[in-house]
Amino acid sequence: MIDPFGRTISYLRVSVTDRCDFRCVYCMAEDMTFLPKAELLTLEELDRVCSAFVRLGVKKLRLTGGEPLVRRNVMSLVRGLSRHLDSGALEELTLTTNGSQLAKHAAELAECGVRRLNVSIDTLDPHKFAAITRWGKLDKVLDGLAAAKAAGLQIKINTVALKGVNDDEFDHLITWCGEQGFDLTVIEVMPMGDIGGETRVDQYLPLSVLRGRLAQKWTLDEIDYRTGGPARYVRIKETGGRLGFITPLTHNFCESCNRVRLTCTGTLYMCLGQEDAADLRAPLRQSESDELLETAIHEAIARKPKGHDFIIDRRHNRPAVGRHMSVTGG
Ligand code: SAM
Ligand code: SF4
Repeated sequence: MIDPFGRTISYLRVSVTDRCDFRCVYCMAEDMTFLPKAELLTLEELDRVCSAFVRLGVKKLRLTGGEPLVRRNVMSLVRGLSRHLDSGALEELTLTTNGSQLAKHAAELAECGVRRLNVSIDTLDPHKFAAITRWGKLDKVLDGLAAAKAAGLQIKINTVALKGVNDDEFDHLITWCGEQGFDLTVIEVMPMGDIGGETRVDQYLPLSVLRGRLAQKWTLDEIDYRTGGPARYVRIKETGGRLGFITPLTHNFCESCNRVRLTCTGTLYMCLGQEDAADLRAPLRQSESDELLETAIHEAIARKPKGHDFIIDRRHNRPAVGRHMSVTGG
């Protein structure tokens, strides 16, 4: 699949549920209304759509959400999709998770051929963790990480940089990740979805500023390492660990975008930062063969926009897109 700007689409991210057992302050409002269960694609339908994408050239699949591991029976989807790893059609099957359920599932994920996981942790301070996630417990996530490590999974920690909240913790996070053998990626807060009282202008910390600060303490060596995602990496000489920066606001990375995103209702977003979407649920349900579905996918890819234009400042203090990250799948 090649889009109008010559980019090969080889990466599908799938939000398997919009629900979550946390309520991170930058991601969700506390009183979120979730989709009625009847609106969701079944796990069998999700498998069908993912498999169609794999047939059309997707090499990397990431399950996300919401919290992917709170969807009931999600492991049967993972197990089913692992057949594409076995056949060689798919190169990587992976997840982004908040880690709360990882202790339960890590071993089975590894058994299914999952090799790497992204686990989101914004702080190593249990009180701050409770404040940021509203409902989360750091201990449980650390137990999950230990289980994942024991199962041989490679871990990348995702941390959203939050001004005045965790910007004093990066030295600690870097040291801890170095000790644990985890990579670390820092993400700028993106203007997605209404989150209630707080404003993202107050949370926004440009990573150019953070990077400048870190460079005073750590030796950051530029490296070519890429994971197929938008992060740009450096190696931290003192720990040997990799540190990635995802900078949707200070730097646009759209020119090398290789991905599209499917929601749990079968809506395909061709860009995280744009409203245009394609409905795949109707063609999926219209026929038992996948012809209509594949045609709809091709039509959607032909409409992939050039890029997003996220902006956070006092004049634009409202979400750039109305939907939350948990809907499109971060
Ligand atoms: N629940 C899982 C988790 O937290 O890892 C997967 C879904 S979550 C939406 C995926 C990633 O998006 C997390 O690393 C989270 O921190 C990030 N995220 C959520 N809302 C964001 C926002 N408004 N700006 C930047 N990153 C965001
Ligand atoms: Fe849930 Fe992940 Fe959003 Fe936090 S960032 S509320 S864990 S979906």
